[in-house]
Amino acid sequence: MTDLTIIIGGGLAGVTSFYELTARGLPCLLIDAEADVARGASFANGGGLHPSLPDPWNNPGIGRHLLASLFQRDAAMKLHLAQIPRLAGWGMAFLRHSARKNYDAIARANFDLAEYSTRQTEALQQFLNLDYDSAAPGTLKLMRTQAERDEALRLADMLAAKGLRYEALNRADLLACEPSLAAAQGLVGALRFPDDGIGDARRFCQGLAAVALKNGGEMRLNTKVENLLIEGGAVVGVRLRDTELRGRVVVAAGVAASDLARPLGMRLPIRPAKGYSLTLDAGHLSKERPRHLLVDPMQHIAITPLGDRLRILGMAEFVGNDKRIQQRRLTQLRGFFETLLPDTAQKLDWARAQGWAGLRPMSADGRPFIGASNVDGLWLNCGHGHLGWTMAVGSARLLADQMTGRTPEIDAAPFSPNSTIRRLR
Ligand SMILES: Cc1cc2nc3c(=O)[nH]c(=O)nc-3n(C[C@H](O)[C@H](O)[C@H](O)COP(=O)(O)OP(=O)(O)OC[C@H]3O[C@@H](n4cnc5c(N)ncnc54)[C@H](O)[C@@H]3O)c2cc1C
Repeated sequence: MTDLTIIIGGGLAGVTSFYELTARGLPCLLIDAEADVARGASFANGGGLHPSLPDPWNNPGIGRHLLASLFQRDAAMKLHLAQIPRLAGWGMAFLRHSARKNYDAIARANFDLAEYSTRQTEALQQFLNLDYDSAAPGTLKLMRTQAERDEALRLADMLAAKGLRYEALNRADLLACEPSLAAAQGLVGALRFPDDGIGDARRFCQGLAAVALKNGGEMRLNTKVENLLIEGGAVVGVRLRDTELRGRVVVAAGVAASDLARPLGMRLPIRPAKGYSLTLDAGHLSKERPRHLLVDPMQHIAITPLGDRLRILGMAEFVGNDKRIQQRRLTQLRGFFETLLPDTAQKLDWARAQGWAGLRPMSADGRPFIGASNVDGLWLNCGHGHLGWTMAVGSARLLADQMTGRTPEIDAAPFSPNSTIRRLR
């Protein structure tokens, strides 16, 4: 076996791994099927670096919610009837992990990685001075009912023991710190998380991939990996359409990770959760421009001030690998924005808004897979779901530490592919 590392996938997980490994002097080749990096889920995501939202989406009560969504055309988190057979095994694990004890344990583990990752992203930004509209405005988690507020406080208190800083705001405090919400109806308050950041994930990937190339890495775009190359039960490389390449392999292929691992008999529980975003020019706004990342957790919708743009994002639909943009979902995002920020909405040019749909690689228990798999020669960095930007840099460091025999700076065990895959069988 050569000492080449082949990374499949040029999204956040693959590009950060590419950078970390080349920065440590390892010969590395990144392969992506698309014409540029960050063309998958990392293209126009919410831009939020938010350790404050580490809880998995299979929260207690999710089963009832998903069942009801079968009959609600525009539910924010929606299950489609036709997908049920395809989601069977994954879906049972998704539901099983929604028990309160699991949910809390995973939120705590995810917080450690998200917090570590956000710090590392900031350090990398200072070191490399990449230009990706990075800022640290903090997040406002908006509350509409007392029950929502109680649950958000419970989670925040639990994570405060691990270092999460937050402030509980009533409606008056909220409007004082975020005046753009002055005309919003029905908000009872918010939690403010001052340490959360934002940044354009796609531009970050482009900048970081360029650094990795300067470090000596190689990149092949427009190149699909057809299969993993398997010899004697070990992964020894990848098969392309017209050739084979040898080396150890990192699967960072987003929602395609399960298909790549399947020939090995590995049931990697990752399924697509489709989300949408709308991006608008906002350089002309002044006081109507939101200062914070605004999150409505119940509706799975957020608004991000990204440089001189605003991005609205949301929805989680289980519709398989379907990336088509449904116009009514974009209309729904616009409607949400108009209700929350009516004055700002009037000043935006909606005709020029850029709509996008992407597939979050959602693991069944809400945690990513990072590290060596139980097959020789195969490493994983995938399954980050709604936290792939927040966790990207930290995950790549965890992976690279393990690949180079260093002790990771945080506990890598909760993200070990083997324990998770075994447990979910
Ligand atoms: C609407 C939306 C909003 C989001 N907002 C946030 C947010 O605010 N904060 C946050 O932390 N996260 C957010 N996320 C989640 C985050 O974007 C994802 O977790 C992250 O992008 C996943 O990165 P990835 O590298 O694993 O996958 P991807 O970015 O999808 O990359 C996978 C890559 O693998 C390539 N590939 C797959 N198979 C092959 C093959 N066989 N051969 C070659 N190449 C292959 C694909 O072409 C693709 O480029 C959001 C996601 C969505 C959809």
